[in-house]
Amino acid sequence: MTSERHTVEHDLHEALGGAGCALCALLARSVRRAIDALTYEGVTDVDVRAEIRAARGLCATHGVALRQARQAFGAALAYRAVLGEVLRDLAALPAEPPRGLRRIWRGARRAPLAGRRACPVCDHIGEMQRIYCEGLIQTLQRPGGREQLAASAGLCLPHLRASLASAGDAATIATLRSVHLARYTLLADELDEFIRKRDYRFAREPSGSERDSWVRAIEALSGTPGLHPAAVVDSSPGGTS
Ligand SMILES: [Zn+2]
Ligand SMILES: [Zn+2]
Repeated sequence: MTSERHTVEHDLHEALGGAGCALCALLARSVRRAIDALTYEGVTDVDVRAEIRAARGLCATHGVALRQARQAFGAALAYRAVLGEVLRDLAALPAEPPRGLRRIWRGARRAPLAGRRACPVCDHIGEMQRIYCEGLIQTLQRPGGREQLAASAGLCLPHLRASLASAGDAATIATLRSVHLARYTLLADELDEFIRKRDYRFAREPSGSERDSWVRAIEALSGTPGLHPAAVVDSSPGGTS
């Protein structure tokens, strides 16, 4: 546990020194590792193969990550197993629509051919996000932690939300708030400058750091696909959306 905490702290320390949201960077690495585990261990590991079979494959976003990993053999084995399940589901599909079909379709997991569990990579990212958010809160509670966050690129909005939800004390909430008020205000100023220069009267002015502010604004406010498990729609029976 102590060494795990040490690793999380070390990871955060490095990621806060990089470009962009530190949690996005760490979770992107977690996705790559999960995909590697799936394609290497999935060849031999019964549990890993069972998870992806039960989910009837990865979600679309993590399916793209699997394709990009280009582990053709591991992917072929995993998805051959998934296809076996889907073929069995299809063969067993009732000829008549079940009663109360509408109600059933509302909950995606209960829809025809739905998997029995969520995408295993989404689950893993949810767990890693919880671990890194807790690590960040602990970092902020130590001397120099606030300065480290303030010197970083700041968190994207989805990870700021997740961190605020993990923060249990007023001082940590105040730190997250003040650091991001400053970060997001800078971004707003750059967007204002970008928008001002679109006016024909100022269009001849040379562009500065604001030139890619619109890209950074999308990244900061929308986050990165596949790294925000909390945003996944609750598709469990009885889920509200
Ligand atoms: Zn992020
Ligand atoms: Zn997923």
